[in-house]
Amino acid sequence: MNLEILQTPIEYLKGVGPLRAAILRKELGVHTYQDLIQLFPNRYIDKTRYYKVNELQQNMADVQLIGYITHFRTVEQKKGKRLVATFRDDTGTMELVWFRGQKWIAENTKRDQPYVIFGKVNWYNGFSMAHPEMELFSQHEKSMRSAMQAIYPSTEKLSQKGISNRVIIKLMEQLFIATKGRFLETIPEGITQELKLLSKSKAMFNIHFPQSQSLLSRAQFRLKFEELFYIQLQLLSKNISRKTKIKGYVFEKVGHHFKSFYDNYLPFELTTAQKRVVKEIRNDLGNGAQMNRLLQGDVGSGKTIVALMSMLLAIDNGFQATLVAPTEILAIQHYNGIVELVKDMDIVVSLLTGSTKSAARKEIHQQLQSGALHILIGTHAVLEDKVHFKNLGLAIVDEQHRFGVAQRAKLWRKNHTPPHILVMTATPIPRTLAMSLYGDLDISVIDELPPGRKPISTVHRYDSNRLKVFRFIKDEIQKGRQIYIVYPLIQESEKLDYKDLMDGYESIVREFPAPEFQISIVHGQMKPADKDYEMDRFIKGETQIMVATTVIEVGVNVPNASVMIIESAERFGLSQLHQLRGRVGRGAEQSYCILMTGHKLSSDSKTRLQTMVSTNDGFEIAEVDLKLRGPGDLMGTQQSGVLNLKIADIVKDNEILKKARLYASVILKKDPKLAMSEHRVIRHNYFLLNKDKKIWNYIS
Ligand code: ADP
Ligand code: MG
Repeated sequence: MNLEILQTPIEYLKGVGPLRAAILRKELGVHTYQDLIQLFPNRYIDKTRYYKVNELQQNMADVQLIGYITHFRTVEQKKGKRLVATFRDDTGTMELVWFRGQKWIAENTKRDQPYVIFGKVNWYNGFSMAHPEMELFSQHEKSMRSAMQAIYPSTEKLSQKGISNRVIIKLMEQLFIATKGRFLETIPEGITQELKLLSKSKAMFNIHFPQSQSLLSRAQFRLKFEELFYIQLQLLSKNISRKTKIKGYVFEKVGHHFKSFYDNYLPFELTTAQKRVVKEIRNDLGNGAQMNRLLQGDVGSGKTIVALMSMLLAIDNGFQATLVAPTEILAIQHYNGIVELVKDMDIVVSLLTGSTKSAARKEIHQQLQSGALHILIGTHAVLEDKVHFKNLGLAIVDEQHRFGVAQRAKLWRKNHTPPHILVMTATPIPRTLAMSLYGDLDISVIDELPPGRKPISTVHRYDSNRLKVFRFIKDEIQKGRQIYIVYPLIQESEKLDYKDLMDGYESIVREFPAPEFQISIVHGQMKPADKDYEMDRFIKGETQIMVATTVIEVGVNVPNASVMIIESAERFGLSQLHQLRGRVGRGAEQSYCILMTGHKLSSDSKTRLQTMVSTNDGFEIAEVDLKLRGPGDLMGTQQSGVLNLKIADIVKDNEILKKARLYASVILKKDPKLAMSEHRVIRHNYFLLNKDKKIWNYIS
């Protein structure tokens, strides 16, 4: 079988040798035949098209022409000399230029026979081509060609050392000779037939030597599918093994608290999405395995009520629940909101934060251990080892990106059997990406806002329009609304940013003088108590303007605030802009978001601003963000290895990913251990991939 051949060190391939092998290893990470065969082209050039000289244009990529090469001459230049020849076809002439290998070219080029030349055209007082690939037309006609020529990844070092694209193609040819072009099939026949996939061998051949555009497309599809299929198989089986191995408390009842809340105290009708998510959570809580679920929902989509109803399920089954928020302000808001919702029910709720006084803390500890306390809401203080529950059944974490894995682990240890975990986030991660990143989390999405929300109206204004913006702010304040003005604060340039903030604050104070206007300011260099004091004044409506850095980004709920002004908006990432905008639009009034920038904007900045202006949909924004930044920069994906994909593209190949996941899940459902004979091919390949630890690289 080819398996062993593929493990051969690359220097043994004809045409490589130790010198080239060293370069291939260093520059492309190609150590073995296997690595080379998996060096997939970046793009292809259409070799079926022949251009005429009079069709050339100034900014063309590589082109292919047929004609005669004549009139060789040597031109002296500052350093050394160049060889120039005239290339002629029946429509005109151009120059061919060589800086190296001149003697050989001059002596071996045939002046009386047509050539096919190929390369990149340059224009400088006429067209020219440097170091063209050349082949006698008579040869060209005879040789077996692919319709499209592969262009492989390259580096400066590679081309310096003479390993051109052409050389790589030659090596690839050798590799196909050495392996006879036969590769182990990795996808079972059932799927191959259903999806009309090319066989592995045919796909490999056509990815490197496409015989037609359509065979190339099919080869790409097949290889991308294969890559994504095995990743999904790995992620899903990891998830399955968690479910079978980690036992969870069974909340079998939908009891009195849940029912009476639903019937009597729920202040609004749940949206369809909320209902669906509650159902998903209920299933998890009842099935005997520990729940590990990520709940994604855009800002304002109503995650809190879902959290509360899940906690009621815990209480109905004799368990306690906790809700942990990243900041004290948020914890307090959750506490107030939930106390209000359950005020007519016999449920005991407490708040535990860093500033809880020791007497109160003592009481909380006692009630937690006696079981008298049902719901504990708090900050990281809840995680401390000295906080013991009698019987914690469900832990909910709000805004997960402020919350590390280690902290999640602390929650796991708060009971004999780990409690169920629900992680809520308003940072939308495109679903497909989330699927490939969080194999060990199940995902729920609230993809619908409660009815009656007025979409936030977003505009982009230049700094030069500031006076108009100030006038607008005054009008809104006169109508009784409150305003956020946010400045960027990015760590590396903290001093400078801080100065911007203070300058901005002073100019706003000048423009909006007391006593008519009251202004709050909140930034990271203030003491927490001062921050809370300022925040509190704004929440109570004592101040009309809140000047702040991004500390207000997460969760704060001031329904009367209807204008969000973001200064130097070009310096924020898309997801951050969206988070900030989510601070307004929470009340009944029309809300506005104004993005302020200077005139100089990069094209990415423009795209970000346009995206914000054109949509309020967090998932749509996340998709654009993903395209702009690539998955590497998205929250939580840094070490996840999605970038190590060899051929698939997590963004562009979304549809293939979905298909791959579907097939993987159907197979695992039927045959979790891959023991059935029809899955032999998969089992075998899966084992090989795992042996090389290749797949593990993908796991976050
Ligand atoms: P987030 O998902 O950002 O945490 P919240 O849970 O804070 O959102 O909900 C935002 C607001 O929407 C709250 O004032 C909440 O009471 C309200 N809300 C939530 N669900 C609904 C619903 N189904 N119908 C009407 N209002 C709702
Ligand atoms: Mg929230």
